Amino acid sequence: MAEDIGRLTRKIEEISEGREITLMHLCGTHEDTISKYNLRSLMPENVKLLSGPGCPVCIIPDTDLQKVFHLIERKDVVLATFGDMARVPFEDRSLFYYRSRGKDVRVVYSVFDAVEIAEKTDKDVVFFGIGFETTMPSIAVAIKDSPENFYVYSAHRYFIPAMEAIIKGELRIDGFICPGHVSTIVGVKAYERFLKYGIPMAIAGFEPQDVLLATYMLVKAINEGKPWIYNEYTRAVRYEGNVNAQRVMSEVFEADDGEWRGLGIIPETGVRIRKEFEDKDAERVFEDVFEDFVPKEDKRKKHCRCGEVLKGLITPKDCRLFMTACTPRNPIGPCMVSFEGTCAIWAKYGVG
Ligand code: SF4
Repeated sequence: MAEDIGRLTRKIEEISEGREITLMHLCGTHEDTISKYNLRSLMPENVKLLSGPGCPVCIIPDTDLQKVFHLIERKDVVLATFGDMARVPFEDRSLFYYRSRGKDVRVVYSVFDAVEIAEKTDKDVVFFGIGFETTMPSIAVAIKDSPENFYVYSAHRYFIPAMEAIIKGELRIDGFICPGHVSTIVGVKAYERFLKYGIPMAIAGFEPQDVLLATYMLVKAINEGKPWIYNEYTRAVRYEGNVNAQRVMSEVFEADDGEWRGLGIIPETGVRIRKEFEDKDAERVFEDVFEDFVPKEDKRKKHCRCGEVLKGLITPKDCRLFMTACTPRNPIGPCMVSFEGTCAIWAKYGVG
């Protein structure tokens, strides 16, 4: 492995020719690989690897979190979600806080664990669903085949349309390392719509060699002025993606405006449960509960710069709270909570 890494970094250096190149990856697992193997330190000075909005927990806006808190404060339901999401704070509360106050909050590893809970109880079970195209197919299957007392609060987001907002954003990005997991579902073809922007894209796996090979191919494409999509992750990603997963997703979900932390409202990225399955949609079934919902600002997060971290405008160490007031044990923003959050990853590997 060391030999491959050395060879690839030498090749990147040879072809980068001193010009400033800014690449962005879009996946928490890629950030983990980059930080774990300290790949940024192996890059020539002129090649920058930025971290983008690839952490599904981090991009969920406080509005969704507050709505779920609002629901469990008023209804005696079982609230099931993934562990990271249960730790995200708003003001001084989180779903774990509610559990410590006697609310029935369960951590699950898959949506099917939540379905199983519903099968064993008479209470209403609400699954707080987050994630991109990678997790949405299994949620769609659960919505189609689950007991009457099972509902989903959908805070999922379509990732692919969000790339357009990033491309048109404040930063000039010369190339994207595309997320391996999302790409297994959407396929290479999903990225073709972005070729018109003249920016090369490389779908990469999660070994350090994968990330370096994708980086090399991007630098090569930039040099040659050829915007193309390079599929480095051929062992998992096909041109058409996972067609069955795409089918079940589109049967159950439809696109709507979606709010992203740091990026604001992005058209076509919100994920609504279709009307045919409205009896599974927690926002519709419990709409009376949300009638008096008014979102608030979290004053504690006033100095949290997660939004800028997610856009690649700053690194965690540019946030003055990083590893001072905000630590993995006492996180202030979701980027320090989630194992896919850039702040948490930098803290874990001592980056910066
Ligand atoms: Fe937010 Fe903490 Fe990251 Fe700062 S270090 S951006 S407060 S999560």
